Amino acid sequence: MTERIERLALIGIGLIGSSIARGARQWNLANEIVVQSRRDETVETAKRLKLGDRYTTSAAEAAKDADLVILSVPVGACGAIAREIASGLKAGTIVSDVGSVKESVIRQMQPHIPKGVHFVPAHPVAGTEYSGPEAGFAELFRNRWTILTPPEDTDRNAVEQVRKFWTGLGANVEMMDAAHHDMVLAITSHVPHLIAYNIVGTAEHLEEVTQSEVMKFAAGGFRDFTRIAASDPTMWRDVFLNNKQAVLEMLGRFTEDLTALQRAIRFGDGEALFDLFTHTRAVRRGIIDAGQETAAPDFGRHESEKS
Ligand code: NAP
Repeated sequence: MTERIERLALIGIGLIGSSIARGARQWNLANEIVVQSRRDETVETAKRLKLGDRYTTSAAEAAKDADLVILSVPVGACGAIAREIASGLKAGTIVSDVGSVKESVIRQMQPHIPKGVHFVPAHPVAGTEYSGPEAGFAELFRNRWTILTPPEDTDRNAVEQVRKFWTGLGANVEMMDAAHHDMVLAITSHVPHLIAYNIVGTAEHLEEVTQSEVMKFAAGGFRDFTRIAASDPTMWRDVFLNNKQAVLEMLGRFTEDLTALQRAIRFGDGEALFDLFTHTRAVRRGIIDAGQETAAPDFGRHESEKS
């Protein structure tokens, strides 16, 4: 049984913030939910969707006297918000976030966290290519991983409370060192997004293939890249600017391997191609067996889009 949070403050109420709000409501994880977004328009949408009990455009006002504060804003905005909310935080409050990059978020936020306030950085490894409060759904985190990256001296009880909160949302929780998290996510998420953005951009710039042909024959592999390349530009700009080192390291390896494939094609080395494709097929099977994906031909996306 999850302990209920007395007052939960959600700073940022897009896809992730609104999914937390819906899940917290559905599974009764908080007595009061305070919702914040910087623009009136987003706050109005959140109100219409009844995502919280109180609403404000001020992060400081939302966080004041809250027991758990979760920042669900682009990674690059975390430092400024931490500075803004700091003076109103009461002792014992837990501050967390959902940013896709962890070392940079810790660097930005940690200096502003007052004494007696606990900072437990988190990253739910779950999402869709949609943004905004309307895109969220309570089940987004169910059976997905949430990675916590608390600095070594973080209060154990605070970490445990955050773990319980995410378990309450249906997530499986794992602990990781922030630098290791950034490396793992660079290869599993960040570089794949960059490749998708790049290939869709390349297709768009091709003069020999018309736009209508790109649309018409998209099913040939390109379609799934366009889904990923439709992800929020602000969020992903911030991910690359804030996980520079790990992304560049993984891109270096990727480029080496791509060059090897290029050579195999040039020299007709079918065995090298066949070997790699056999191994990669096994990776896909492993992901399905681990319950992180379905074998459905639509990659299981329809299920989450319905919610
Ligand atoms: P989103 O749907 O675009 O919502 C962003 C929220 O942040 C909105 O409330 C927006 O406010 C606010 N915001 C945007 N820029 C801001 C700024 N400069 N200062 C203060 N507030 C700002 O984004 P999201 O997909 O929920 O992503 C939020 C965080 O979750 C990101 O850090 C991302 O790395 C992480 N994350 C995303 C995914 C994913 O798949 N999307 C998965 C895991 C983690 P207004 O609407 O009022 O402008």
